[in-house]
Parts: sequence; C-alpha cells; structure tokens
Amino acid sequence: MTLGAPSAAVVSVGNELLFGETVDTNAAWLGRALSAFGIPVTRRFTVGDVAEEIEWAVRDATAVADLVLITGGLGPTPDDLTKSVVANTFGLDLIFDQEVFRALRSRYTERGLDDVPVSAYGQAEVPEGATTLENPEGTAPGILLRVPDAIVVLLPGVPRELQAIVEGALRPYLVSLQPGEGERIWHHVVHTTGIAESRLTLRIEERLAELDDGVRGRVGLAYLPDLHGVDLRFSAHGASQDEAMSHIMPCLEAIEDVVSPYRFEAASGDLAEAVCQALRERNLTIATAESCTGGLIAKRLTDTPGSSDVFIGGVVAYSNDVKVEHVGVLVSDIEYHGSVSEPVARQLAHGIARRFGADVGVGVTGVAGPGGGSEEKPIGTVWIATCVGGDVQAFAGRYSGDRAAVRARAGQAALAAVHRRLVDAGRGLNP
Ligand code: AMP
Ligand code: MG
Repeated sequence: MTLGAPSAAVVSVGNELLFGETVDTNAAWLGRALSAFGIPVTRRFTVGDVAEEIEWAVRDATAVADLVLITGGLGPTPDDLTKSVVANTFGLDLIFDQEVFRALRSRYTERGLDDVPVSAYGQAEVPEGATTLENPEGTAPGILLRVPDAIVVLLPGVPRELQAIVEGALRPYLVSLQPGEGERIWHHVVHTTGIAESRLTLRIEERLAELDDGVRGRVGLAYLPDLHGVDLRFSAHGASQDEAMSHIMPCLEAIEDVVSPYRFEAASGDLAEAVCQALRERNLTIATAESCTGGLIAKRLTDTPGSSDVFIGGVVAYSNDVKVEHVGVLVSDIEYHGSVSEPVARQLAHGIARRFGADVGVGVTGVAGPGGGSEEKPIGTVWIATCVGGDVQAFAGRYSGDRAAVRARAGQAALAAVHRRLVDAGRGLNP
C-alpha cells in the first residue's frame, strides 16, 4: 500500500530464525507498530549470523526504504555481528562510549555482580556519529545511525527489549518521520465468516469499482483469510480516527449488503465472543454436545471472558454410548442413520439444551479424517444442528483440509449458525 508515506524495511538477523527454531515475532510486531505511525513496512529481510549476509541485507534495505530496522545480533556473544557489520558497511569506526559503559556497569552491579566482564565490553561500543537509544529492559542499547539514503536503527533480538526501545527512545524519531502533522494510518476491520474469499473479494471489488477514484484512492483494503473466515482491513490516513473513518465510511456503505449476512463484531476477532455477546444481550444461555469437534466450541466459548453468564456447559459426546446415555440420542437412529447424520445432530442439539436447561443447544457430528470416510459420507462431512427455544435447524457442511482444519471449520460454522439465528431473531423483533 503506498499512501505517500515514508517506507520502512525490517532486517531480522539470526540463524535460529532461518532454521525455524524461533518465529520472527519481532518483524510482525514492528510491522504493526510502524503502521500505527503511518510508516508502512514495505520489505523484510531475514539472514543468518553471517557477516556477508547481514551486509547484503543492510545494503539492499537502505536502497529501498527510508527507515531500516535491524533486529538481533546485538548481544555480547561471538555470533552477534550486527553492530560491527553495519559499522563496516558504512565505513564507520566503533567507538567506546563511556555513557553506555556506565549504564552497563550499573546493570551488572544491580544484579549483584562485581563488574562488567571483559567479554561484554563490546556492548559499550557504538559506531561513530550514532545515537544510542536507552534499553530499560536489558544491557544492549538500541543504536540509531543516519547513513546517506536512510536512517538505520539497530535493535536487540529479545522482543521485550526491542519493544521497550521502540516505544520509548525511538518514539520521537518515528513521530518526526510521520507523514503530515500528527497524521497516521487508522485501521477498521470488518470480520466475516461463511463466505469463500474468492467470492467475497469478487463481489466487494465490484462494488468498490463503482466508487469515485478519489474516494477509493484514499482507502487501502487488505483481505486477511484464515480457517475461520476473512477479515477485511480498511486503512486510511487521518489526524484522528474520525477523520480516517470519514474516508472509509463510503466504502463500508458500498459493500454493506454484500457483507451483512456474513459479518460479526468482536474486539478479539473471534466469533465466539460475538456469540457470547449476542446471547448476553438476549439473556439466553447455551450448551454444547460435540462429537467430531471434541469440545472445541466449548473451549472457544469459554475463552471469552465473562462467558459464565451464558455458557452452561458441554458434553464431548464422542462415543455412541455417551451420545445415548448423556445426551439422549436414540440408539435406533444411530443404528439406522449412522452417528454422522441429521437426526443425530438434531438430537444432540435438542437433547443437550433440554438436559442442561439451556435456551440454545449446539450439536455437531462429523467425519474429521484422516480415516472414517465413505462414499456416502466423505471426510469433511459434518452435520451441525442448532436448537433455539426448542426449534431445531440442521445442515450438513463439507469442509476441506486435514483433521485440524475440518474441526476448526466445523466449529466455526456451528458458531456462525448460532450467531445468525440470534441476530436474525433480533431483526425479526426489531425490524
Ligand atoms: P540476539 O539479539 O540475536 O542475541 O537475540 C536474543 C534472543 O532474542 C534470541 O535468542 C531469540 O530468542 C530472540 N530473538 C531474536 N530475534 C528474534 C526475532 N526476530 N523475533 C523473535 N525473537 C527473536
Ligand atoms: Mg542472535
């Protein structure tokens, strides 16, 4: 997304990142933090603890971005090369900084150690002309350097330290780089579930194409799909959220009827939160009887703070015995239709609501795979039933992916069905 802002690049240094032992959460965190300052990250580099590789990435990054943030390799061990490589790359000497050394010494003595070990002296060296950025969480300070084409910032790899420096000492520099007086990027996220990304994208882009270029051009839109649905993240510049929303609003209006059947609202982004909220607003309670999802729905509902207001409990009705004994499914229906069937899902939803005295019941039974599929009921077939005030509705879904994906998608579809019924009932009452 280019919105006329200065751009940033992130260089992540560390063998552990390449080997997959450590997930590069710093780059993700920096991406979010910088976009909040209106400085989009447009390029990422990941390299090992190898001098040539670090130099290559730093040269490329400074060629493409105004601000280059380098994370990792700032420690005192021999594999920590970032500082010397960066100094070398730009032809700068490393200078022993008395002030950094004093801070280092007090850190060591605070921890009850006698003095700074000689092996850690290097931590007090700073490229000539650089500014140090206080690290309240550790020994290595951040380092800010102005080089011909960019500002280069060296940050420690430890996430807590990196975040403290960015939010503290680096903050004024980020503010000064922001485009326009106090402007930044604001995001507005619309959560959707139950519609395929390809279909959603097509229909939304059709609508947005009808808007004036001037209106559309001020707004960025990212489609963020996962197993649970697609988030639409709208972005716009503004001195305040209201100002940014005034740009985004025409886009939201243009797509309203496309998204409204699939939309839900939840601060956490989790549909389970929206379901709990919808139940709470209507003074209703819910209970679950899950076979193939194994308690996933109950887990997600109880992930939501305050769910005890609405969630009564659930049964993992995995074996037929439990379906019969504890939820009241008829043996004859299991024998005649099979455990993955509409009558069984219906009886799970109805039975659990009745036995637990809940207003809403959810029943789920399906074939999650990798075994157990048949021609009639292939892997991914899941019967889902909802019982609201004694009225049961059921449908069969066919979900793709491996066992975990089928379970995740089925759990989401069950929650979406509950949400839909509650919201639609609400609409019926207050047209
Ligand atoms: P370093 O500054 O390279 O000595 O890194 C110190 C520690 O920070 C490493 O052992 C990792 O656990 C962690 N770390 C380094 N780089 C990253 C990163 N990009 N994302 C998350 N953690 C990291
Ligand atoms: Mg390292």
